[in-house]
Amino acid sequence: MRLLVSAGPTREFLDPVRFLSNRSTGRMGYAVAAAGVAAGHAVTLVSGPVALPPPPGLAAFVPIVSARDLLAALRDRLPDADALVMTAAVADFRPADAAPLKIHKGDMPAELRLVRNPDILEALRPLKGARLFVGFAAETDAVLESAAAKLARKGLDLIVANDVTRPGAGFEVDTNVVTFLAPDRAPEALPLLSKTEVARRLVARIEALAAARRP
Ligand code: C5P
Repeated sequence: MRLLVSAGPTREFLDPVRFLSNRSTGRMGYAVAAAGVAAGHAVTLVSGPVALPPPPGLAAFVPIVSARDLLAALRDRLPDADALVMTAAVADFRPADAAPLKIHKGDMPAELRLVRNPDILEALRPLKGARLFVGFAAETDAVLESAAAKLARKGLDLIVANDVTRPGAGFEVDTNVVTFLAPDRAPEALPLLSKTEVARRLVARIEALAAARRP
């Protein structure tokens, strides 16, 4: 299979030195990319700025910075993919205006005007065709309900839900506690596992979904 994986945070610049971003380290997405390579798939990794080296054996590595860059890179690559795995923690908002030069302290507005970034999965939905779309849902409450709502709203084939407030789950750790949710199937709750093992099981689920689709 040809897997297109997004990972890491996006950065939304206010001026050349300041940006809005989030706590994503890219570990989950890089683990998914590595698991895809290990399972023999052709993996393209599109990544926001992280401190990790790209896993060996990728078909392509595409660095991006902002949510809009990510959308453009994925739109370019989607025609050559069988499955899109959106592990990236996309910044939902960006500053309404990005200054070309550093804003001097005294000139910094007291209030920042923000505009919404596009929802990438929703924007790519018209191009989905027979491809599998997999999302992640990092939640802090009503985890399964919120993830199920996202699965339906974004028209996904699978969503990986996690409660980022649980010890050993979410950002900046090497483990995760996730539940796989797919349309018309009972949720599959996994125990505390390394991100490497979560990624291995996710790739196996994607392979099973793809096999079930074949005539
Ligand atoms: O709605 P929420 O951000 O919680 O959904 C998470 C899923 O949607 C993740 O797979 C994430 O990569 C994706 N996403 C997106 N575009 C955004 C925000 C999130 O595709 N602007």
